[in-house]
Amino acid sequence: MLDLPTQHFTVAGMVIKPRIRGFVCITAHPEGCAAHVQEQIDHVKKQAPIAEGPKKVLVIGASTGYGLASRISAAYGAGAATVGVFFERPSEKGRPASAGWYNTAAFHRTAKADGLYAASINGDAFSDEIKRRTVEQIKNDLGTVDLVVYSVASPRRTHPKTGETFKSVLKPIGRRFRNKSVDADKEEVTEVELEPATEEEIQNTVAVMGGEDWELWIDALEEGGVLAPGATTLAYSYIGPELTWPIYHDGTIGRAKADLEKTADRLDARLKVDRGRAFIAVNKAVVSQASSAIPVVPLYISLLFKVMKEKGLHEGCIEQMHRLLATQMYNHRALNFDDRGRVRLDDLEMRGDVQKEVAALWDQVTTENIRTVTDIEGYKSDFHQLFGFGMPGIDYEKDVDPDVSW
Ligand code: NAD
Repeated sequence: MLDLPTQHFTVAGMVIKPRIRGFVCITAHPEGCAAHVQEQIDHVKKQAPIAEGPKKVLVIGASTGYGLASRISAAYGAGAATVGVFFERPSEKGRPASAGWYNTAAFHRTAKADGLYAASINGDAFSDEIKRRTVEQIKNDLGTVDLVVYSVASPRRTHPKTGETFKSVLKPIGRRFRNKSVDADKEEVTEVELEPATEEEIQNTVAVMGGEDWELWIDALEEGGVLAPGATTLAYSYIGPELTWPIYHDGTIGRAKADLEKTADRLDARLKVDRGRAFIAVNKAVVSQASSAIPVVPLYISLLFKVMKEKGLHEGCIEQMHRLLATQMYNHRALNFDDRGRVRLDDLEMRGDVQKEVAALWDQVTTENIRTVTDIEGYKSDFHQLFGFGMPGIDYEKDVDPDVSW
């Protein structure tokens, strides 16, 4: 596998440095990830508590990005007991664990100190086995859950019934797409050209990122008797501006999201019978492990950050998720749906003045002006922080024990 020559082993631990390979970082820093989690907890603690908030919450995809932020907001905003499901890598043979592993270890440590129930299940959420283990965990410890957040982002899925493995692709549909993109590490504006997806690739992407697994989760929770009457379930989507549509909204991932929306409608009709509900929240573009893999999108995010920060509108995952819980779902508030029945948290991103400025900058941006026209620095800083690097107050020259758990 991968050798990590910049790591120096000592008895006490090791120095861990970022090792970036394209759009992933193959190392993560336990203390930096803990600091990143703490920042999100602190954000929520500064807000007023959520009245009538969720009590027992299951988050599927709970270790990074929007799922982690949902977990933190429910736990620290509403005092909820949380069960998290995710697929992360523990530390092995002196190699650091994945960021989501360290995030979860930090979340557990803090939750325990604060008297909040937390349980986590690491494994393939697409499998029957992990669904069964989750149902058991809920049954034994909590009885039921009243909120189920589905926030899985994965490049592949093995179907639990057929054993077939599907790989998702990020491609346009119908015609070739060429546009600007960015090599964030080199700070270069590049050009991508993508061939249209085949019908099979479209179907495979829908199989991975569409709604089937979400529905199977609700089936398993209902059959296991652990879905509370009146429970809410939600999943996340993205729409974005037209410049990203060929690769997102109108591309293979957009088809999967359309399937997710149809699933929300079906689940909503089903859960309504027992006063429950299912819906899609459309979130804003943020730097996450999932979004950094999409061509074109990271350059768009760098421009969006520039414009939204200048206007004082900038939000990350935790601000978005807390806004969802505190101003739409609970606190005696009502969900505010768009004409397609979705909750929109991308309202500030999609504001006319924001998008007009982003579009104008999109036409201007080149490698030469990337540092002034975009917030590439903010993009890179967020990307590093996903893996626990560049966090204030952390001594990255110090040995740390990579083997932490909960
Ligand atoms: P992320 O990569 O940060 O998180 C993905 C989560 O899924 C992690 O917890 C990971 O462990 C888990 N996961 C992946 N494969 C798994 C498996 N087989 N079994 C169990 N867990 C698994 O992603 P994110 O950006 O937070 O995306 C979450 C959702 O939010 C997605 O539906 C995405 O489309 C949506 N969304 C993201 C953005 C964005 O800009 N990042 C914007 C709007 C909506």
